[in-house]
Amino acid sequence: MLLTPQATPIQALHDSLFDRHGVRLLIKRVDLVHPVISGNKWYKLKYNLLAAQQQGFDTLLSFGGAYSNHIHALAGAGHVYGFRTIGLIRGEPYQPLNPTLQFAVDHGMALHYLSRAEYRMKNSPAMIERLRQQLGDFYLLPEGGTNALAVQGCSEMLADVDTEFDVVACACGTGGTLAGVVAGLNGKHRALGVAVLKGGEFLGDEVRRLLQESGEPQFDNWQVECGYHHGGYAKTTPELMAFMQRFEQQHGILLDPVYTAKLFLALYTMVEQQQFARGTTLLAIHSGGLQGRAGFGLN
Ligand SMILES: *Cc1c(COP(=O)(O)O)cnc(C)c1O
Repeated sequence: MLLTPQATPIQALHDSLFDRHGVRLLIKRVDLVHPVISGNKWYKLKYNLLAAQQQGFDTLLSFGGAYSNHIHALAGAGHVYGFRTIGLIRGEPYQPLNPTLQFAVDHGMALHYLSRAEYRMKNSPAMIERLRQQLGDFYLLPEGGTNALAVQGCSEMLADVDTEFDVVACACGTGGTLAGVVAGLNGKHRALGVAVLKGGEFLGDEVRRLLQESGEPQFDNWQVECGYHHGGYAKTTPELMAFMQRFEQQHGILLDPVYTAKLFLALYTMVEQQQFARGTTLLAIHSGGLQGRAGFGLN
C-alpha cells in the first residue's frame, strides 16, 4: 500500500483588507490532496491505514455524526485501499440516506446506528467488546479519527511547503490536526487553531496530551482561538454564511460552514483587529470537508 500525498498548491488571497493591514494571506489547498479522501482526513488516516494493514486487520470501524467528514473519508479510504469499513452513526436511521451516508454505503461501508445514550458510551471497553462480538474483529479509529498516528500523519501536512510564512492557521475540532501541525513545525514559526465548537478551551490540554502521546516535545509556539465558533459545532450565524458566500465569490474557492468558513472569518476578523503585525505572512490550511456542505443545502 502506497500512501504518497498528491502535491497541493499554495495560493495567495488578494483582498484590500490585507493590503491595508500589511498582511499576506496564503492558502494551502490540502483539500486537493486526494480526489476521494479529502483534506486533513487523508493525513489523519495515513498511518492508521498502514498500522491496520501491518497488524493484519481487514476491517476498519469508527464513529461519527450523520454528516461526518471522518466517516465519509473512512468509507472512501476503505474503498480505495481495500478495507471493509463499518460506520457507527449517532442517532436514528433516516431514509433516504443523506449524501454523506449514501456516499459511505456506495463505497462499501456498513452502517449501524447508535442512540445518543449509546453513542456517549462509545469509548467504553464494554461497548467495544460488545461490538467485537457482534461485528467481528476490527481496527478501531476514534470519533474524528484523532490518535497519535493521526498526529504523525498531520505532521507531514506542510512538508512540501517551500514558501516562507510566519503563522499557520487551521480549524480545530478534536485538536488532532493542530497537534500534528505543531509537531511538523518543530518549534519554528507559530500555529493558530480556530476552535469550531463552543467550549474550545479544552483544546489546549488536548493538544498537549496528543503531543505527549506522540512522543513530541511540549512546543509552546501555538495557541487556540475560542471566540469564533458561531454558536457551537455545526452551528452557523447569518454573518458566517454571508462571509462564506462573499469569500467564495471573490476567490473562487469553496468553503464549508462547519470548519473552514469559521477559520477564514476568524482570520479576517483578527487582521481587521490588527492582531498580526505588519509584514506577517499567514498560511491558512484549507482542510477540505466540502462534502459537508450538503447538510446546509449547498452544492
Ligand atoms: C475534521 C476536520 C477538521 C478538524 O480536525 P481535528 O483534527 O478534529 O481538529 C478541520 N477541517 C475539516 C474540513 C475537517 O473535516
